[in-house]
Amino acid sequence: MSRPVASYLAPAATGAVRVDLPAPGRALAIGAHPDDIDFGCGGTLAKWAAAACSVTELVLTDGSKGSWDPKADRATLVALRQEEQRAAAAALGAGDVVFLGYVDGELGSGLAERAEVCRVIRETRPDVVLGHDPWKRYRLHPDHRHAGFLAVEGIVAARDPHFFPDQGLSPHRPECLLLWEADEVDHLEGIAEFIPAKLAALLAHRSQWVSTMGIAADRAAEEAAFETRIRQRAAEAGAAAGLPLAEAFKRLDRL
Ligand SMILES: [Zn+2]
Repeated sequence: MSRPVASYLAPAATGAVRVDLPAPGRALAIGAHPDDIDFGCGGTLAKWAAAACSVTELVLTDGSKGSWDPKADRATLVALRQEEQRAAAAALGAGDVVFLGYVDGELGSGLAERAEVCRVIRETRPDVVLGHDPWKRYRLHPDHRHAGFLAVEGIVAARDPHFFPDQGLSPHRPECLLLWEADEVDHLEGIAEFIPAKLAALLAHRSQWVSTMGIAADRAAEEAAFETRIRQRAAEAGAAAGLPLAEAFKRLDRL
């Protein structure tokens, strides 16, 4: 059945961008790889942590493909990337980092993975969950798509008592889900004071300097260029609502 065009246009409310949730008591950020959380919402987490929010990071894969060196020892790389993620979380003032350890590049979003994410949501009981937008168009990396679906579907499982009752954990329904790399941005978090913490967290991922951040031989200059890129991205995000620097999200709050 066809619907009048107006009914498709109406809900979009173009330009309707909301700004700044009240700092939640507990937040859980779910990323595919070490460093994804810092790129996606590092400034927001630092801001909330400074307001006494208890922040947990959940990293789904082991990061074992995060090197351009074909001779890199994978076990060493996995250990190094966990260490870097813990340092990055500390730079944001975040607390625990939970690693599920799925093989990098081979993440799925089936029932087994959903159960694990559900368990972490029920254990940490966040008010706000943050994750990748699984509906981002033309996305190449399958882990980011699967990680996004696991955040969404992990919430559905966590809130409903008949999912995974053998976990022996009470159901938990977060109030809000923020998706970064959003296909349709409708929420911004201002991070003007927290861009230094975001940059410090990103730079804690030393193993990714060459491959992801373009920081190699001429360290000082390239580090400055990387910082400029991150600041530019935050400035572009903030422009939609007149914020100097922001992180952009799709916000779902009927969970
Ligand atoms: Zn990633």
